[in-house]
Amino acid sequence: MLKRLFAACIMLCLDLILFVVIYEDRKDKGDNIPVTTTFYENVVALTFDDGPGIYTGELLEGLRERGVKASFFVLGERVDCYEEYILQMQADGHLIGNHTFSHVKLDTLNDEAACDEVRRTCEAIENITGESVKYIRPPYGAYSDKLECAINLTKVLWTVDPQDWNTTDVDKIVNHVVSNAKDGDIILLHDIYSTSVAAALRIVDELLARGYVFVTVDEILIE
Ligand SMILES: [Zn+2]
Repeated sequence: MLKRLFAACIMLCLDLILFVVIYEDRKDKGDNIPVTTTFYENVVALTFDDGPGIYTGELLEGLRERGVKASFFVLGERVDCYEEYILQMQADGHLIGNHTFSHVKLDTLNDEAACDEVRRTCEAIENITGESVKYIRPPYGAYSDKLECAINLTKVLWTVDPQDWNTTDVDKIVNHVVSNAKDGDIILLHDIYSTSVAAALRIVDELLARGYVFVTVDEILIE
């Protein structure tokens, strides 16, 4: 009986030593730290497509008043007309991404035409900001990762889509987003509609009140 107890104690001690050795080994390599789900805690990203437009200034003002950063995926063909908004986005710390030049479905074009859409948009933005564009949101989510001209661009899709372009009901847009938003979400809106801009600012107020922090999409891991 005593022998068995002794043997059990020895086994327990060996297990403990083994555990400590493995733990220390992993700790040294830095991989004992679990990938926590709290990384995205209370963090969401607001994104705006298809602009800039005539309501973008009002949106930028509202975001500035609230100290909120967002991401704008702009159309190359609109950039020069709204240069002051592009500069304002940059000054306010928003992310500016590529949404093609003329809102085309990239996978319906040949590589040359698709690259032309992507490249011209990057150039139009970069000519104003002096900074290279790093992110692209392809219209309709249609995109080929094989496009060589876009190899340095990271694709950004979305996780919450209130279809704001399909309604003028501000309450409906706000309710959809507020009731669906969760940690790490990327919310899709369009800053070319007055209803979307009104909804966006209400969404900000509601989610801020719930303790959410708004970040630009580069701060959220993207597939
Ligand atoms: Zn679009």
